[in-house]
Amino acid sequence: MQGGRTRSLARLALAAACGALVLLGCQGGSSDDSTRLVLLLSVDTLRADRLGAHGGPAGLTPELDALAARSLVFTAAYAPASHTLPSVAALLTGRYPQELGVTGNLSKLPEESVTLARRFREAGWNTAAVVSNWVLRRASGAAAGFDRFDDALPQHEAARPMPERTAQETTAAALAALSQCLPTATERCFLWVHYQDPHGPYTPPPALRAQRLAIERERPDAEHRLPLLPGSFGTGGIPDYQVIDGHDDVAFYRAGYDAEIAYLDDAVGALLRGLEARVPRAAAAVVFTSDHGESLGEQDVWFGHGERLGEAQVHVPLWFTLPGLAPGRRDDVASLLDVRPTLEARFLDASDVPHTGRALLAPGAGEASSTVYLATLQGSRQPRVGVIEGDFKYVATLRDERNWDGRLTRRGDDAIDLTAPAPQIAARLRARLEALIRTHDAAPGVEIELDADDRERMRALGYLDDGAEPRPGR
Ligand SMILES: [Zn+2]
Repeated sequence: MQGGRTRSLARLALAAACGALVLLGCQGGSSDDSTRLVLLLSVDTLRADRLGAHGGPAGLTPELDALAARSLVFTAAYAPASHTLPSVAALLTGRYPQELGVTGNLSKLPEESVTLARRFREAGWNTAAVVSNWVLRRASGAAAGFDRFDDALPQHEAARPMPERTAQETTAAALAALSQCLPTATERCFLWVHYQDPHGPYTPPPALRAQRLAIERERPDAEHRLPLLPGSFGTGGIPDYQVIDGHDDVAFYRAGYDAEIAYLDDAVGALLRGLEARVPRAAAAVVFTSDHGESLGEQDVWFGHGERLGEAQVHVPLWFTLPGLAPGRRDDVASLLDVRPTLEARFLDASDVPHTGRALLAPGAGEASSTVYLATLQGSRQPRVGVIEGDFKYVATLRDERNWDGRLTRRGDDAIDLTAPAPQIAARLRARLEALIRTHDAAPGVEIELDADDRERMRALGYLDDGAEPRPGR
């Protein structure tokens, strides 16, 4: 406790200094001493454009829209990979998954990784996590740095033998975790909550699906029917883990996805109200994001993720709701790697612990822009890598052992190929991409040791063929 008292005194001194300097901009990026709770709130498989803040359907996400209205919203935020563990590893560490050797859902986050939770705990905060995706269970390494790590998955998914925890249960677990993480009024808590609901198979409450189905039936391709595919990839048809009662029409699944988001939204609202009952807004920070999106037919990929680097799969929400931070919007390119350095700069003492992201709230940061390195890693049968820089995006697909087919587009619009009309920009981004590969693709991967039950579960999910070839794409 001696250390805790020393840290408290240091915080008091810092607060006094900050108070004296507030007119000089101390609030802009230096250590924040009044915040007692930092909530990292992430949702699996939530594409940005389903949210009101990013042009989503009217009325679909009222609770999250209210959160966005009091947040700094990054409109051009990207996940570095389009499936779960690599992307979440980047979120927790501020490093590319390639740097960590976390290239698939069978990888393991190295035990020595510097994570947000470790950094907060070293600074004297209590730390807790509630995760509802089996891929993020303790064995994945995601528990590093957390005092408490709740990965209980009491429910079972509909179309595959997979445990999960639905949104209402996740909210209840998160509020219980908060009580343990903030046992007294003087302690501080870093809490990570990861919801799973928008991930397929889409099994929302029936009334919510019916509501969304009435809307989807009005769309011109509502009756479009698709083949039901035997594997977990969604190229040209519906992947097996998504199929419910033999449905093969687009409207049924689009409605299911949106209804899962509506269900999630309600549960997130309950979580935020529960937090506010215990911690006033002036002492609570929220970071809201997603690990990747979901294709709903873009590039002929249906109700899946992992194989592509299109906007549907890598454009994610990234919102900061911090005490004293003015709500608004920022259009500079950001990524999940930026969360750790941004929170460190704001809430922890200045650090020279290395990371690859950037502190988004540092003075002048809005005039800069991230370069984001994208890769499908083990999520794809056909490897894809890409780079986003400024207004442009370049994605390369491995054609054969050595040759990559590259394609330049304007960021935010995958439809129009600019490779031939803008060859100099394409060449510049290709060179940038090659440099990123040389710089970051260094670490050898470490894979989870699977017991017999895990192997069976992975195989049933399509993560693993009998030849032990990793499969995507959760
Ligand atoms: Zn995911």
